[in-house]
Amino acid sequence: MALRTILKRDTDEESLRKKSRPVTVFDKRLHMMLDDMVETLKDSGGVGLAGPQVGILRRIVVIEREDGSILELVNPSIIDEAGEQEGLEGCLSLPGIWGVVKRPMTVTIKAQDRNGNEFTETASGLIGRCFIHECEHLDGILFVDRASRVLTEEELQQLEEEGEELEEEA
Ligand code: ZN
Repeated sequence: MALRTILKRDTDEESLRKKSRPVTVFDKRLHMMLDDMVETLKDSGGVGLAGPQVGILRRIVVIEREDGSILELVNPSIIDEAGEQEGLEGCLSLPGIWGVVKRPMTVTIKAQDRNGNEFTETASGLIGRCFIHECEHLDGILFVDRASRVLTEEELQQLEEEGEELEEEA
């Protein structure tokens, strides 16, 4: 396993804006990429990481659930959404930037595992939000495209002073 460099919008926007290709071969190479992404996600302290964020233009995503378990998504797609949540969102590729984004409260995805087996998973709250954030990365969409507004430096400072933890980066 190896740590991968997380691409940042400031220097790598062109790559982050590309559309990723579906995975068709479920081989050792895919497994290695997923292992690297899991290691990189854990090192980053974020919640989710999509292929293009580490320069892999493939439709793969890794997510760390609230209980610490890892969810690997190959060729994920959103098949159902319900409810609504509005909250602060951040991104490992846009460090220091936080925006207010409206998302569905509960999201169901269909995906394949690293061996090509299909499954569905439903999540609410933070992980539901993360499903959509990561799937959008695969189409070159960044959360700031969806944000109703981006927090100012002053607002961020105030949140920090209030002890608010901003660590829902994905
Ligand atoms: Zn992101």
